[in-house]
Amino acid sequence: MIPITKPYFDDDELWLLKECLDSGWVTQGPMTEKFENLFKEEHPCTYAVSVSSCTAALHIALLALGIHAGDEVIVPAFTWITSASCVEYVGADVRFVDVEKETMNIDTAKIEEAITSKTKAIIAVHLFGCPAKMDEIMKIAKKHHLHVVEDCACAIGTTYKGKKVGTIGDIGCFSFHPRKAITTGEGGMCSTNDETLYYKMMQYKNHGANLVKKGADYGKPYYMGIYDDVGYNLRLSDIQAAVGIAQFKKLHKLLEDRKRCADYYIEKLAGNADIILPVMPQEFGHTYQSFVVLLKSGDSELRNQIMMQMRQQEIQSRPGTIAITRTEFNKKKYALKDGDYPVAEFCEDASLTLPIYPFMDFDNQERVIRLICDMI
Ligand SMILES: *Cc1c(COP(=O)(O)O)cnc(C)c1O
Repeated sequence: MIPITKPYFDDDELWLLKECLDSGWVTQGPMTEKFENLFKEEHPCTYAVSVSSCTAALHIALLALGIHAGDEVIVPAFTWITSASCVEYVGADVRFVDVEKETMNIDTAKIEEAITSKTKAIIAVHLFGCPAKMDEIMKIAKKHHLHVVEDCACAIGTTYKGKKVGTIGDIGCFSFHPRKAITTGEGGMCSTNDETLYYKMMQYKNHGANLVKKGADYGKPYYMGIYDDVGYNLRLSDIQAAVGIAQFKKLHKLLEDRKRCADYYIEKLAGNADIILPVMPQEFGHTYQSFVVLLKSGDSELRNQIMMQMRQQEIQSRPGTIAITRTEFNKKKYALKDGDYPVAEFCEDASLTLPIYPFMDFDNQERVIRLICDMI
């Protein structure tokens, strides 16, 4: 069986896990701090806040920015559902914007028409490791006084015009789910250069404990902290961070090999006029968290036949991701109907994720390419 992705582990993870377990400290602690520091080296930012998932990261990002009921947040129509669920968590409403076929990211030409007097933020998603057009997004945000949260779940290592994603906007949110380039099983990270946002995110992830205000008894053994807001427990554990440290040490090697696989797909499929490939301009540092192709015809029946054939040949595949404007929840809450976001719908119906992971066997990749070329 050729899996759609496969995490890469070696003895480093085992040694660090053993070190963590032997130490007796398994919740947030020294391993988490080391993990955050490694992250900061990779995605230069002043503050990194480790959390239990990217979904948790998005949640505390919106809380820290003060988004609440009555506010609106702009979210692309084609993305993983949590890019929009986080808006619901804080009681705000989503304003969907269609995507463009070329990058499958938000169509920046359509953002301004979605902005109202209630709009407070844009969630810029770097889907599948391809950066969103941040120059355009930041320009619109500045003009309309909007916050920008970067959903970098798929984008560890991704660059935009030479700059690592995650601190172009106010806050970046990363994922270490096994479908992403490096993993801690479940896990996430927030990045920011803003001290106030940092302390707020620390408070929300950690039971509401305020780290800035110090009570009169601060430092005494009986000091219990200041809890002036409701928080959650969204911390990453040191067990997960131990795995993350080992993963970070080989990140560049893993990303390089992922790119090698992507380049090979592109080389072999480039001649096929019926496929839209994820080929990007040089200034977009794509990291290919997923290698997603589109059938130019939009023929979803053919796409489904290909996926059935892939299953028969024991090759895993998935559609790219979801047109979130077609989920039952969003259709009902926002009175949406089919056809409202045609490019997002096209992307869901005509997309196909091909297996990609570091050190993917050459013959396996050839098998995938042959099947695609036989059917399209
Ligand atoms: C995977 C993903 C998420 C969610 O990440 P988790 O760590 O699983 O919560 C959010 N947004 C996008 C675009 C994703 O691909």
